[in-house]
Amino acid sequence: MNDRPNLSCRELIDFIADYLDGSLPPQVRSDFERHLGVCPSCVSYLDGYRKSMMLGKAALRDYDDARLESAPESLVRAVLAARRQSDKA
Ligand SMILES: [Zn+2]
Repeated sequence: MNDRPNLSCRELIDFIADYLDGSLPPQVRSDFERHLGVCPSCVSYLDGYRKSMMLGKAALRDYDDARLESAPESLVRAVLAARRQSDKA
């Protein structure tokens, strides 16, 4: 059995950004995926990395949009009115 991956865990982590944006050369990419096939800890690292990327990029913007859309307009007005009231007082 000589099924050891060519990449070490550290090398894999170095390549993650390139892997996710698809700029990894095919040879490295296949080594990368082979490593993932035998190394659960790198799979979960990749998973966490991907999630934090999504949170950092799209999710923040989407979160604001979703929050605005999900707030009923009557509620928004009530909040604004209450704020105005307390400003006067
Ligand atoms: Zn690994």
